[in-house]
Amino acid sequence: MHYSFARRMANLTASEIREILKVTARPEVISFAGGLPAPELFPIEEIKRVNRIVLDEDGKNALQYSTTEGYDPLRDWAAARMNQRLGTELARENILMVHGSQQALDLAGKVFLDEGDVVLCESPTYLAAISAFKAYGANFVEVPTDSMGMRMDALEEILKRTDRVKLIYVIPDFQNPTGRTWSLERRRQLAEITARHEVMVLEDNPYGELRYEGDFLPAVKSFDQAGNVLCMGTFSKIFCPGYRIGWVAGDPAVIGKLVLVKQCTDLQCNTMAQRDIAKYLELYDIDEHIAKIREVYRHRRDLAYRIMMEEFPKSVSFEKPHGGLFMWVVLPEKVNARDVLEKCLQRNVAFVPGGSFFPNGGHENTFRINFSNMPEERIVEGLKLMGQVLREYID
Ligand code: PMP
Repeated sequence: MHYSFARRMANLTASEIREILKVTARPEVISFAGGLPAPELFPIEEIKRVNRIVLDEDGKNALQYSTTEGYDPLRDWAAARMNQRLGTELARENILMVHGSQQALDLAGKVFLDEGDVVLCESPTYLAAISAFKAYGANFVEVPTDSMGMRMDALEEILKRTDRVKLIYVIPDFQNPTGRTWSLERRRQLAEITARHEVMVLEDNPYGELRYEGDFLPAVKSFDQAGNVLCMGTFSKIFCPGYRIGWVAGDPAVIGKLVLVKQCTDLQCNTMAQRDIAKYLELYDIDEHIAKIREVYRHRRDLAYRIMMEEFPKSVSFEKPHGGLFMWVVLPEKVNARDVLEKCLQRNVAFVPGGSFFPNGGHENTFRINFSNMPEERIVEGLKLMGQVLREYID
């Protein structure tokens, strides 16, 4: 059969991470490749209990169709949480519940992008966002970043000389893949510059709650006077990703459009999942739960960083992130991380080469390490092996 797929399918190829994850499914492989939360922290007993209570108290509604916008108590919680943590002033009308922030990326692509439109992003950026926008025929312009986030002088320059810029996609807190966090000033500037140029900002914030030191910073959304910033949140990293529940916050005029396209996609979010999470939030203290996650991940980060300092050659550079799940490693210019990966896989250690986080390619001398998913002894063993390979390869 000759399948006549839509032209947009030519823009989509299997993600390199998914391919690596297939290899890392083997139990003997020590994997720093995925972005997975630690499964031993999932509140399984609590979820069993809330699930039972939801079904006992209101099973008929919990199993019924419900509104596209989402379950109101959860929308209220999301608005209040962002206001408390991120300095926004949001209400229920600003919130649409979605099946993970990944769905918000897809819906935003559908609402804003025509074939050939331009998306600006940090360089590097989140791989699955690149795929989501590519599916709508987007072209990418990477904006240079430094340790404070996206460089605003470069952004202004690019906005002046580039036509058809429709979206600017950013991850200001503990970015995936670099682990970096934007300064307060850059956040303020981004809101100001994009309002002036009338460009939409998609602010993705799955990791903001996972801060291991320092103070929470206000979101770009908190500086949004013009209504051009959409900010996404998710339960994936503070609760569990399997429910696939997140939210997107924005001006009601934009939320209305997102609702229209969500109706085409899946009508609404899973009613039962929303009910379970809302019941959990009512009966348990999620701050206590998040504090536990932070504690475990902080240890793993400190440990990973220490081993890397001890074991990696001096010509390899990396920074200690203040939160999130990732560390970004830069090898000497001529070393290709894909070759290093091959050698590491022979010793059953995996990571993700950094090249695929750059929509326009290059930067093959980089890679990403996830430190949240594995117990400490595996982190030590894996990073020691990685250090050995790097020393053999580079020295
Ligand atoms: N955005 C970023 C930056 C991510 O790292 C991830 C998950 N790895 C997502 C979005 C998707 O998260 P969710 O589970 O909420 O769809």
